[in-house]
Amino acid sequence: MKELTQADIEDIISRVQVRLSGVPEGAAPASTLVAQTELQTDGELGDGIFATIDEAVAAARVAQSSYATEGLKTRHRIVDAIRRAMLDEADNLARLAHTETGLGRYEDKIKKNILVATKTPGPEDLEPVAVTGDDGMAVTEWAPVGLVGAITPTTNPTSTIINNSISILSAGNAAVFNVHPNAKRTSAENIRILNRVITQAGGPPNLITAVATPTLDSAKALMVHPDVRVLLVTGGPGVVKEALQAGKRAVTAGPGNPPVVVDETADIEKAGQAIVAGASFDNNVICTDEKEAIVIDAVADRLLKAMADSGAYLLKQHELARLERVIFREMGPPNKPGSINPAFIGKNASVILKEIGVAVDDSVRLVVADVPNDHNLVWTEQMMPVFPVTRVRDVSTAIDLAVRAEHGFRHTAGIHSTNVDAITRMARAMNCSIFVANGPFFSGLGQGGEGYSSFSIASPSGDGLTRPRTFSRPRRVSVVGALRIV
Ligand code: NAD
Repeated sequence: MKELTQADIEDIISRVQVRLSGVPEGAAPASTLVAQTELQTDGELGDGIFATIDEAVAAARVAQSSYATEGLKTRHRIVDAIRRAMLDEADNLARLAHTETGLGRYEDKIKKNILVATKTPGPEDLEPVAVTGDDGMAVTEWAPVGLVGAITPTTNPTSTIINNSISILSAGNAAVFNVHPNAKRTSAENIRILNRVITQAGGPPNLITAVATPTLDSAKALMVHPDVRVLLVTGGPGVVKEALQAGKRAVTAGPGNPPVVVDETADIEKAGQAIVAGASFDNNVICTDEKEAIVIDAVADRLLKAMADSGAYLLKQHELARLERVIFREMGPPNKPGSINPAFIGKNASVILKEIGVAVDDSVRLVVADVPNDHNLVWTEQMMPVFPVTRVRDVSTAIDLAVRAEHGFRHTAGIHSTNVDAITRMARAMNCSIFVANGPFFSGLGQGGEGYSSFSIASPSGDGLTRPRTFSRPRRVSVVGALRIV
């Protein structure tokens, strides 16, 4: 198979877009790989899906030992085939994920699938490093780790599976998934398609496996399985804590509460537009989405107007009081997170506003609340398109509040400012895996920003945006007194 070029990618994306414009939502898109576009029966086995963790691990182990003997050309061929197929299935998988989980926006899930299919690094990430000197030469190469046990969230089921699979397989490994139970049928379908694609491209069967009925117990069984060398865990604090107790290397991608600061030097209209786009992306379920804005009081009214001009709905104070009773199961003490009502996680703004008798259509992507600094919304990872804007007197106070509201997750943060000193000070103080200046936070994932993409941002373990190197063992060969040829 010919290597995927930029022109190929653009061609596939435009075909997806043409198909979308001609296909009403809910209708089955044309597909070359999946005859079955509806969710399959729960528990269906085959094409990488097994009844137990032991079977899934054993099959992936056999696959990995054969894959490890293949050269880099095979890896490139398989990863290219995965990219093509996932682009081709981007809309189908988005529709399945949206239908099964009820979270987010179908059209944004398509963008997420396209992003990871095109911008997750492939085997080219494993460029060897050579050093030479008076004592000879040393080369470092990136060896496979073997089997990676991957645990995925309900918020980005398919984009995480696509991203993790490309990273793990590019490094010569096999992957065993324990997916979120609320996305199990979509995830199983995604894994079945990946297995068909891999075998069609000449790879072994079962290079990616999963259990048909994932549970917390099967997640724990995967974590402690002796044949699983490395864990890749993407989710909230509970699963991160559990993985850290497994007694093996755990790449942990945990929760965030990304603050965005807007200072008086920013292009306020552009900032308002960017924050509405970023905070509403997939209805705010993505861990990197803006979760609260901290704005200098002198420009706060202009920012709120800019957000309204970009299509956000500004809550009146009496509406906020009513909405709090809807979206919080329990509000916490001041300056602390509250407990969010899960029924409204990932829902459209129109659905949430309807609960307080406000009728808007689905073009309204974000609900904005002007709140005091200690309001629970500022401190909570709400994962819904209800977004707090809070006022402070100056940029130093804003940065200080941003650090505290982020809870030390060191995940994602950003600023709108033209003051390089403020940008630098905040980036240093936040100490996050991703810091975005003057753009929506999805730019930090490579969507409209530079750099590669990942949907597992491993801040607790310090790995940052995961990539093939993350799932490799660096190995050195040292030749003493020779092979420096100049
Ligand atoms: P979740 O923690 O409920 O579930 C994530 C996965 O972990 C699921 O597969 C779930 O079954 C499993 N799990 C949960 N608790 C477990 C336990 N105690 N033992 C074993 N397995 C367990 O999270 P979610 O609602 O699916 O996703 C949203 C959360 O994930 C948010 O906090 C978000 O910030 C975070 N997230 C982080 C990243 C990142 O890259 N850092 C990416 C996506 C989501």
